[in-house]
Amino acid sequence: MSELTFDEVRVRYGSGRSALTAVDGVSLTVPSGQVVGLVGESGSGKSTLARTAVGLAPLSGGRVLLDGEDVGRRTRRGRRPLQMVFQDPYSSLDPRMSIGASIGEAMPRGSRDRRTEVARLLELVGLDPDRAATRPGLLSGGQRQRVALARALAGRPEVVIADEITSALDVSVQGAVLNLLRGVQRRLDLSMLFISHNLAVVRYVSDLVAVMYLGRIVEAGPTEQVLADPQHPYTRDLVAAAPSWHTSLLEDTVSEVADVEPSDPHRPPAGCRYHPRCPRGPLVHAERTLCVTTDPADGAAGRAHRAACHFAAPSSPVDPISHLP
Ligand code: ADP
Ligand code: MG
Repeated sequence: MSELTFDEVRVRYGSGRSALTAVDGVSLTVPSGQVVGLVGESGSGKSTLARTAVGLAPLSGGRVLLDGEDVGRRTRRGRRPLQMVFQDPYSSLDPRMSIGASIGEAMPRGSRDRRTEVARLLELVGLDPDRAATRPGLLSGGQRQRVALARALAGRPEVVIADEITSALDVSVQGAVLNLLRGVQRRLDLSMLFISHNLAVVRYVSDLVAVMYLGRIVEAGPTEQVLADPQHPYTRDLVAAAPSWHTSLLEDTVSEVADVEPSDPHRPPAGCRYHPRCPRGPLVHAERTLCVTTDPADGAAGRAHRAACHFAAPSSPVDPISHLP
């Protein structure tokens, strides 16, 4: 059991006019044994944030901690307490290696009985242990993603980061992979950061949810609470756009601000970054200049439900659970 903490994390790519702050002062905690869903549109900085935890994105500010200790230092001591599974199951496995060898390779140094352990892991992810000698080329996308998960688990992690792991799969197998992931997470009591642009998917697996927009977390809290009663207009837009969602609660969302160009991440808007698209901001309510002048960011990311909006919706009197499908 481990707690993963992003503390004021900042990632800046490039320099000069092309510089881009992909993650801008994000604080987020994945409590021990819980699943935190990270959702937001493409380019909002979800993958970049996740990559800082495994040393694949440069940290230009802040810290990433595992149980209060710098995550890089924990990793160097042999074991790999944090493992990441990526979106593309076709590039994440070496095509020349059998799946058993791929999994075995990821085990900690000095592991004994690798063959038995490989079989156990294959079984854990719902694959026939007799297929250990198979090359990934013979597997479907869903099966490859199961192998990628087994490979991540081979490192005996306490924390798993799953970045869009079902996004490249056929819809027909996405559910099975999500079920597997949720089952394994519970069985092994893993802490997990689960990233997806798909709100329905995030809702299905997450205890807590954090919503990212242009490098910032704009709303966070317990999943059912955030999705039943979203406070930030961006979250409301996401919820309203999700299929088969009950949306009558969200009438103020129905966009008076239709199809505004997405903001340029190289030059994020002043004040609240969402104001050029926001139905609650100065585009609709001219007197709300606060949105243009003042940044509402407050590092929203605790367990309590919080939103970084000057005009967050008042709490709804509706029972937060009963109106969900
Ligand atoms: P998401 O995972 O939410 O789609 P990313 O973290 O991939 O978002 O990207 C966030 C922003 O950072 C985007 O504007 C993207 O173009 C930019 N970006 C990502 N990786 C790099 C990189 N290696 N170099 C420069 N810019 C990058
Ligand atoms: Mg991504």
